[in-house]
Amino acid sequence: MGRTSKDKRDVYYRLAKENGWRARSAFKLLQLDEEFHLFQGVTRAVDLCAAPGSWSQVLSQKIGGQGSGHVVAVDLQAMAPLPGVLQIQGDITQLSTAKEIIQHFEGCPADLVVCDGAPDVTGLHDVDEYMQAQLLLAALNIATHVLKPGGCFVAKIFRGRDVTLIYSQLRVFFSSVLCAKPRSSRNSSIEAFAVCQGYDPPEGFLPDLTKPLLDHSYDFNQLDGPTRIIVPFVTCGDLSAYDSDRSYPLDLEDGSEYKYTPPTQPPISPPYQEACTLKKKGRLAKEIRPQDCPISTMDTLSQ
Ligand code: SAM
Repeated sequence: MGRTSKDKRDVYYRLAKENGWRARSAFKLLQLDEEFHLFQGVTRAVDLCAAPGSWSQVLSQKIGGQGSGHVVAVDLQAMAPLPGVLQIQGDITQLSTAKEIIQHFEGCPADLVVCDGAPDVTGLHDVDEYMQAQLLLAALNIATHVLKPGGCFVAKIFRGRDVTLIYSQLRVFFSSVLCAKPRSSRNSSIEAFAVCQGYDPPEGFLPDLTKPLLDHSYDFNQLDGPTRIIVPFVTCGDLSAYDSDRSYPLDLEDGSEYKYTPPTQPPISPPYQEACTLKKKGRLAKEIRPQDCPISTMDTLSQ
């Protein structure tokens, strides 16, 4: 596969490189902002699950333009530095990471918390949706500690079978909850974004990091009938924007001539790095094909 084929297949990947964004996800946040004006009046923000950092780039440009903004970015993976962005490497589902984030906002809460977190998908939809929901709830838990009243929370969500439960939990804390799908998010993906505005926790609510919000005693039947929460679904991004499910010729319709652009910031220490090093040294375990196996091993494998 030539190095230009991904540019052809994924127009947002190409545009991200040409516009200096570290990832195509930047367009999702920009299109969400076009619809919801997320950055209006925001000076302090948290970017959860931030690597490689395109949302942090957007945030630091939109709210830190005058040097007054303050962005804290968190991810499991290391991220190349960005001006005006404080980085924490850690797991947002861990108490220690949550505490480290919270301490940056003590006495000075955040206006906006965003989370584009995605687990390594397994292809088993129920498992993937559950993992995604856990990430979202970990993010919400952190948001309840750092958001100012009236603040905004935006998080990636998988529109799976039990998504209503998550909307119900979000509605406990926010006066408005919507499900938004930016044009740059593929229609073929169940990904969307919960846009929660007007942080307004129930009276007497005390944030507690030790209490998981998605507890298993929840009665799913309560979510049927009149108690079911149906949140509005909004597509965002200009309708003339590129369609993320389409392939485009290299010379684009808008007349821009194609010139290959390398990625803005290749990942630093990505999870696959060790495998690449092992492969170079010829030490990566090889796939065992049945025809390579002695008969006795094949018997064991087929059991
Ligand atoms: N918004 C990012 C950007 O614009 O560059 C892209 C985020 S990427 C789709 C999802 C990220 O979630 C990955 O970098 C992954 O490491 C992170 N992630 C997944 N689980 C996490 C966890 N438990 N704690 C922190 N980060 C996590």
